[in-house]
Amino acid sequence: MPKIISKETHDEILKLHFEEGLPFSEISKRVGVGRNKVAEICGDEEARRADQEMEEDKEKERKQSTQKIESEVFARLDNGENPIDLVKAGVCSVEAAEEFGKEYAKLKNMSRPEIEILEARMENASYALRHALGVGKIKICCPLCHGWAQLTLRKVDGSQRWVCGNCGGIPF
Ligand SMILES: [Zn+2]
Repeated sequence: MPKIISKETHDEILKLHFEEGLPFSEISKRVGVGRNKVAEICGDEEARRADQEMEEDKEKERKQSTQKIESEVFARLDNGENPIDLVKAGVCSVEAAEEFGKEYAKLKNMSRPEIEILEARMENASYALRHALGVGKIKICCPLCHGWAQLTLRKVDGSQRWVCGNCGGIPF
């Protein structure tokens, strides 16, 4: 008994032959369907592919135009303009300006390792200073209570901190 294959498999085989570039008459012979039927199925396939290509082209265009707007928006924001300026100039919509503004701030923060370096230097300077003043028993003018006091070591939240002998706050 001959194997029965589904219509889908049948059409797939036909399309594969079509892809190989076989002429309709040859496909017709191999698959055992009339030439007109082959033309119909392959014609559908061709139309479907053309549709798909058109969709892909449109999608590509959409992406390119979004990228173009993005680069203009980012260049303007970097130039000191704010998102409201961009809406006023008609560069993008309010929603887009809001979204782009957020993205811009996020990226800007990511490219700021210099702030982390400064923070580390401040912390190092503070460490050196509070220990020198505390151990040396040098009075400081406390920035919290504005009184002159010595720094003393005290346990704050489970760790030893140099606090103001006058108000008990951590001056720096
Ligand atoms: Zn104080």
